Amino acid sequence: MTSLTGDSYPPVLEDARELERLVQTIKDWTIAHGLAVRPPPTNPGDEEGVLATGAPVTLFPSPFPRSCFEEAKAVQTQYNELYARISRDEEFLGQLVKQVAGGDDFIDNLWKVHLRVKEEGYVQSLTLGLFRSDYMVHQDGDKLQIKQVEFNTIASSFGGLSSRTSLLHKHLAKTEYPFLSNPIPPSSLDLPENRSTEGLAAGLAAAYHAYGKSALGHPTCVLFLVQDGERNVFDQRHLEYAVQQAPGPNADLIPVFRLPFSQILTHTTLATSSPRRELLYHPPHNPSLTFEVAVAYLRAGYGPGDYPTPAAWDARYQLERSNAITCPSVLTQLAGMKKVQQVLATPEGSGDDDDPIPSALRRFLPSPADAAALAAIRKTFTNIYPLDGSPAGLLARAIATDPARCVRYVMKPQREGGGNNVYKSAIPARLAAIPPEHWGSYILMELITPPPAVNTILRGNGKVEQGGVICELGVYGTCLWNRETGEVVRNEEAGYLLRTKGDQSEEGGVAAGYGCMDSVRLV
Ligand code: ADP
Ligand code: MG
Repeated sequence: MTSLTGDSYPPVLEDARELERLVQTIKDWTIAHGLAVRPPPTNPGDEEGVLATGAPVTLFPSPFPRSCFEEAKAVQTQYNELYARISRDEEFLGQLVKQVAGGDDFIDNLWKVHLRVKEEGYVQSLTLGLFRSDYMVHQDGDKLQIKQVEFNTIASSFGGLSSRTSLLHKHLAKTEYPFLSNPIPPSSLDLPENRSTEGLAAGLAAAYHAYGKSALGHPTCVLFLVQDGERNVFDQRHLEYAVQQAPGPNADLIPVFRLPFSQILTHTTLATSSPRRELLYHPPHNPSLTFEVAVAYLRAGYGPGDYPTPAAWDARYQLERSNAITCPSVLTQLAGMKKVQQVLATPEGSGDDDDPIPSALRRFLPSPADAAALAAIRKTFTNIYPLDGSPAGLLARAIATDPARCVRYVMKPQREGGGNNVYKSAIPARLAAIPPEHWGSYILMELITPPPAVNTILRGNGKVEQGGVICELGVYGTCLWNRETGEVVRNEEAGYLLRTKGDQSEEGGVAAGYGCMDSVRLV
């Protein structure tokens, strides 16, 4: 494999003074511009939780192939619409839920929330998706091609910090890199614009305006449902500030509130006097106020940890059955199951080996007008297999239990948020510990192998790490659609995220401490 830029970029700073200068500049810029996270709660001397620390970042924007970047951006609106269609296909999702729910209570419980609401009838027909499609560059001989890692349909994070990371690197390109002992002229760096904060905020604002005025005469608001003790709070705050300032039909500020997911039932109620089940928010800081929630934006509720008691499921049910536009709905969250991605990517039927037909993809993109989207989306797939008793599943079981072949794969459960996957040689032992009738709750995915790259990472604790890195590109998208008619009201690509991790690390999450923020230098 060849690297993307040869040996000269990004530079490895040999002179300690040069490295120190750049590190100090970044430490100050990140805090001055809110490219920050809360430190771990164990931090001594921060009992009141007042400290912020710079988010981990690369010292230089990583080289990224232009064609791959443009392809990932261009396919986003097609992906948005695909996932809007999947979210509306209850029969399809129900079948997949049935296949994984035996070994997965969390997915089963989500499905039950949907069934309960369906029985009484949904009152809100609009759904909002703030999506992020994640990719790595796969090198196959000389050919570079983006391959999708996963598609996120809930709590897609880092949009608020990502646009700032692009600004950081643009700042350094002007003020620091030209003055290194091996100067990098600004004109040699193609750093694309990244409007992820504004893009995601525009999606939330559009849904807010589409909700319209309260029939009950209350002011309307956007409600962020968040986790207790969230360390990635500034990422969310940047989004809030941008929603508050988003341009709209009138100059009024959009009221935005944050509410811990664990307090939904304490501070919200459903309007009892109205058949539309409006979601009313009573701010704890001033209970004399009542807001009607136009958009309920979930930055929590994506994993079992947020549902410690049956009351937490009642809270999710309250959101889902309300008139608020949920971002996302339960069905949209379920559309983000890794099982869905697997079924879309696994060829079915009788396509010959050179041109296998992914028939589940065709189910959602059936018409001649969809042909371009079908081809573009299909190109981003890598091999993903079920681990059930189907013929494809039996083939995958043979790979996953073979110590020699499993090293090229990752096994994933139906989970979000990092830390849940099983990599390479750890797969056979993990499978052996799971009853075979539950293997169908997992999928087996071929590992994507990006070209080698190097960079220097400044960690939140101030430590500097130099060496081989792996980059993962995420492209954000916002989509607002009508669940009944299928009409897509709004569909936009919304900026990008580049996350970079040491090449010895398998997981890539920034919040989980594995990866760091980066931006793209197009090459
Ligand atoms: P999660 O929902 O927990 O974020 P992901 O599917 O995104 O799960 O996997 C977590 C991380 O594991 C990714 O960010 C990436 O670094 C790595 N990873 C996942 N799938 C692959 C793959 N097919 N090839 C290479 N790395 C992968
Ligand atoms: Mg991920």
